[in-house]
Amino acid sequence: MQGFDLKNLTLRKAVDHLKKKELHPKEMIDASIQAIEEDAKNGKSLNAIVYHNKDLALKDLAQVSNDAPLKGLPIIIKDNMNCLGFPIACASKILKGYVSPYTATFLTYLKQNGAIIYAVANMDEFAFGSSNETSAYGVVRNPIHRDYVPGGSSGGSAAAVSSGQVLCSLGSDTGGSIRQPASFCGVVGLKPTYGRISRYGMIAFGSSFDQAGPITKTVEDAAILLKHMSGHDPLDASSSKKIVDDYPAHLNDSIKGKKIALVKSTFGDFVDKEIQEALNYVKNFYEKEGCLVDLIEMDIFYDSLRCYYILAVAEAMSNLARFDSIRYGKRISNESLDKVFNESRTRLFGEEVRKRCLLGNFFLQEENYEKYYLSACKKREVISYKTIETLKHYDAILSPTASNKVFKIGNKFESANPLDMYLNDLFSVFANISKTPSISVPCAKDSSGLPISFSLTGRHFDEATILNLAHVYQINNPIHFNLEKIS
Ligand code: GLN
Repeated sequence: MQGFDLKNLTLRKAVDHLKKKELHPKEMIDASIQAIEEDAKNGKSLNAIVYHNKDLALKDLAQVSNDAPLKGLPIIIKDNMNCLGFPIACASKILKGYVSPYTATFLTYLKQNGAIIYAVANMDEFAFGSSNETSAYGVVRNPIHRDYVPGGSSGGSAAAVSSGQVLCSLGSDTGGSIRQPASFCGVVGLKPTYGRISRYGMIAFGSSFDQAGPITKTVEDAAILLKHMSGHDPLDASSSKKIVDDYPAHLNDSIKGKKIALVKSTFGDFVDKEIQEALNYVKNFYEKEGCLVDLIEMDIFYDSLRCYYILAVAEAMSNLARFDSIRYGKRISNESLDKVFNESRTRLFGEEVRKRCLLGNFFLQEENYEKYYLSACKKREVISYKTIETLKHYDAILSPTASNKVFKIGNKFESANPLDMYLNDLFSVFANISKTPSISVPCAKDSSGLPISFSLTGRHFDEATILNLAHVYQINNPIHFNLEKIS
């Protein structure tokens, strides 16, 4: 197809073009790889993609049935998703060189629906981080301003979509890792309800929190991907048997009369003024559309952060035990069993991973268990209850995606206080704690031209409502990408 441009192409249009044979998957992959390779020559390269393999994708294409809804759609995955034949390292030295022996179920579903996988995105090591500075592959840069972080942990996935290097991508979200980088890069990120998407084949971080989800330019594209990657999986006992909605079919439903709870904490001292202004704009928009927007008190955000950084870290510590250089992971020393474990884990895990292993062990030690782990479990119940109660009265909870603006590389990573980084997740972790679906949508640019986004969090398995609200906002308020120009 003459003059097509990945940056100004939506997934929906691409699928149309592919169906009509106006565009060939090979053409799209070639354009993407060319953009990635061109960018790699830049002194300030985005470093968003760590691996690509056109041949594997084209081999899959040959297997795709003609009536597959996404036939030939090239997609990219995150470095913690198993896809047969692709390397997977969770951006860690300990897994360097490891190749996936099988495919994650949600990728199998996407493939059955016609998608083809050709590249792997950079991320924070083991998905621990909010800035993509902990990766063994090096930092990822924000495509809108290269001295700034892209957010994390799915920073590579978000930066690749935002820059136009790829059409769409997948991320994983344990505590905001799809939504926050999507927000920082000015694209859309959706964390589905816990259980909507099978976790089988995604390297576990916090098993009671993790969900994979789409990162796209438009809400509509996120709805399409969600539809084709969701569904029950007998290999993941926590995956739901609920019927998967036809999400794209409800995007243009009327939102008149919808009730939205805007959280008061949005206007707290700790939230940047430009973010507050942006959220006010969003509130006014929904009111003009006939929604009822109430400002409500939800005193869950600091508790959510405390609760998350105990439970998710404790779960991560247990999940990472398998990287002992016997079952998984490279081996550095063979001298003694202790050395096998210690040398590898000390030398091949990065600092943030080591810190979390120590913290996770601390929380689970017999003498600390009740004070930390058990009380965080109880808090989780309270936070979930409050969230679910609010959602009995409202269709969605509206909040900023991040409490702070996009920050410079090094700014928080090098801070003596790790809480500076963890505070990024103030507004995102409650959705993981309560297992509710949440979507991030760009809504403004700050004074440096970097994106600001809002989030809508909905009822369990009611992704359709937040997608509907988000879509109506986005088509009326195009930003970053000129949606009219996107063809
Ligand atoms: N910032 C969160 C953390 O570091 C994000 C985790 C995630 O969602 N993978 O734990």
